[in-house]
Amino acid sequence: MTDRIKLLPEHVANQIAAGEVVQRPASVVKELLENAVDAGASRVQLIVKDGGKALVQVVDDGCGMSPADALLSFRRHATSKISEASDLFRLHTKGFRGEALASIAAIAQVEMQTREDGAELATRIRIAGDTVQSREEAVAPVGTSISVKNLFFNIPARRNFLKSDKVEYRHVLEEFQRVALAHPGVAFSMVHNDSEVHQLPEANLRQRIVHLFGSRMNTRLVPVREETQLAEIDGFICKPEFAKKSRGEQYFFVNDRFIRSAYLHHAILTAFEGLLKPDTYPGYFLYLQVPAGAIDINIHPTKTEVKFEDEQSLYAILRSAVKHSLGQFSISPVLDFER
Ligand code: ADP
Ligand code: MG
Repeated sequence: MTDRIKLLPEHVANQIAAGEVVQRPASVVKELLENAVDAGASRVQLIVKDGGKALVQVVDDGCGMSPADALLSFRRHATSKISEASDLFRLHTKGFRGEALASIAAIAQVEMQTREDGAELATRIRIAGDTVQSREEAVAPVGTSISVKNLFFNIPARRNFLKSDKVEYRHVLEEFQRVALAHPGVAFSMVHNDSEVHQLPEANLRQRIVHLFGSRMNTRLVPVREETQLAEIDGFICKPEFAKKSRGEQYFFVNDRFIRSAYLHHAILTAFEGLLKPDTYPGYFLYLQVPAGAIDINIHPTKTEVKFEDEQSLYAILRSAVKHSLGQFSISPVLDFER
C-alpha cells in the first residue's frame, strides 16, 4: 500500500485559490471597494499606480476592525458576513466567502491600517505572501486603509501575464465605475499615478451617471421603473438615437451587484428592436431588485454571474419595462438609416 495524499499547507492552498479571485489588479480593486461598502463607509478613496500593478490602495471611513479581527481577516474563510450556508439566501452584503483578503495577501505585499469607532488606536499589519511581517499599534482615523503592492510579486509567471499598464488601468477604471454606479449614495474618489480621475460626491443615480460619464448624459437618459411581485426594476436607458458603435455604457445590476447575464441583456436589447441603427448598441443602467432568496450568487468566486429562480419571468418583466419607457417618452423609430 502506498499513501500518496497529503493536505496542502494553508499558504499553498491560498496561493492556488488566489488564482480564482485575483486575476489582475482590477480584481483587487473590486474586492477592496466592496469590502469598504460592506463596512458601511460613506467615503471611499481608490489610489492606483501603474494600472494597479504597483499599487492598489483603498481608504474608507467604515466600521473598521478590532485588533484581533484585523489579523483574522487575512485567514481563508474568515468572514463577519455570514455564519451558516442558509445566510446566503438572505444576504445583504457584497462579500460572504471570506476569501478576498486571504487570496490577496497570498500574492502581494499588503499593509492594512484599521481602527474601530471608539478605539483609541489603530492596528497596522504588514503581510506578504501570507507571512505576517509586523503588527503594531498606530495612529489613524476610524475606518480602514488597505494597500496592495506589487501584485504577483512571488509568482513571476502570473505577473508576466498582466497586460500593459494602460490595459490594466482600463480594467481598474471599469471596476471602479461599476461599484460607484451600484452605490450612488457613497462618495468615491479615484487617483491614478497622482492625478485625480474621479471625485464623486454622494448623489442620486442620475447625478452619479452624469458625474461619471459627463453632462451630455443628462439629456440622453430615460427613466425605467417597474414593480411587480417578483422584482423591482429601476434605472435609466439611453435614448436609442445615442446608441454607440461599440458596446459602451451597458450596466446591469442585481441587488446592487454588477452582473453579467447574456440572457437578460438580450431582453433589454429586444425591447429596442426597430429603434436602433444597424450595428449600434444602446446604453443602459438598469437595477433589478429581487428577494435575496430568489437568486444564487454563489456560483462563481467573482460573483459576476448569478442563477435566478425564475429567469424567464424576469426576462419578460425587464423587456416590458424597457419597452414601456421607450414608448412613454414617444421615441419614434429611426426611419432614416443613413450613416
Ligand atoms: P468577505 O468580504 O467575503 O467577508 P474578505 O476576505 O473580503 O471576505 O474580508 C474578510 C473580513 O474582513 C470581512 O468579513 C470583514 O469583517 C473584514 N473586512 C475586510 N475589509 C474591511 C473593511 N474595509 N472594513 C471593515 N472590515 C473589513
Ligand atoms: Mg470581501
